[in-house]
Amino acid sequence: MDEIRIENLEVYGAHGVLPEETRNGQMFMINAVLYTGLRPAGMADDLALSTHYGHVCQFMNQYMREHTFLLIEAAAEHLAREVLLKFPLVQNLALELKKPHAPIGLPFSCVSVKIERGWKRVYLGIGSNMGDKQAFLDGAVRKLKKNPEIKDVKCSGFIRTAPYGGVEQDDFLNGAVELRTLLPPYELLEFLHQLEGEAGRERKVRWGPRTLDLDILFYEDFVSGDPVLTVPHPDMANREFVLKPLDELCPWQLNPVNGKTVRQMLMEL
Ligand code: ATP
Ligand code: CA
Ligand code: CA
Repeated sequence: MDEIRIENLEVYGAHGVLPEETRNGQMFMINAVLYTGLRPAGMADDLALSTHYGHVCQFMNQYMREHTFLLIEAAAEHLAREVLLKFPLVQNLALELKKPHAPIGLPFSCVSVKIERGWKRVYLGIGSNMGDKQAFLDGAVRKLKKNPEIKDVKCSGFIRTAPYGGVEQDDFLNGAVELRTLLPPYELLEFLHQLEGEAGRERKVRWGPRTLDLDILFYEDFVSGDPVLTVPHPDMANREFVLKPLDELCPWQLNPVNGKTVRQMLMEL
């Protein structure tokens, strides 16, 4: 990915844990790398197709002045989020926040924190087999779209399937959703659990009836074997009701664990 780099931007802010730091303020320096495609602006020689680095600098300066944080960790975290929300062409952002005059009481040149944040591509499986299933799925998609830390939400068509896992219950309505999010994997899972809760889901039997089920199928190329969050979803290759809607959205998506594309897993099923 191409980069726009901002080096040692000097800004003023009142961040720190000591009272005199919030009273007097001090100078901070910012290094930022904006990961974004520069080809369209480069070919057309048109600023409207790129991210205006002057505006990014002004924005960061203003944000650092208008907000106060105890920690540079917090200042960097919030600033990164705001830049990613404000400048939509920036896909990822490396942000280093330096505090050259931190009150350490020893000679040093600088302390800093450095973080990388960005919009991550995610695929979800969504399902319902209780009550107004279509309304539960539509409601979930609407709430995903309403979260400011989620964008570019695309939904597959929904398919009706017989229940899975041997529990006697109503048919399922299943679909898949593509989105991009600033939420890291476990925070996204937490948000999905919140949406399930708001749909009145109760966890009684595994694979039992539910108003709403939201599973993370892929989170970029992230691989995790943690039972709390197993990604890619370990059972997708055995589930037509997962692969069919997913194939509508991303047939060429590669499962990093078994090395197969969505289309390939679907064909082999
Ligand atoms: P399955 O995951 O086989 O489709 P299920 O969706 O019925 O089964 P749930 O009762 O909804 O299972 O979830 C049980 C737990 O699974 C959740 O509390 C969650 O922590 C965990 N889990 C592990 N991996 C994932 C994932 N990729 N997406 C969602 N939840 C997951
Ligand atoms: Ca599930
Ligand atoms: Ca689930």
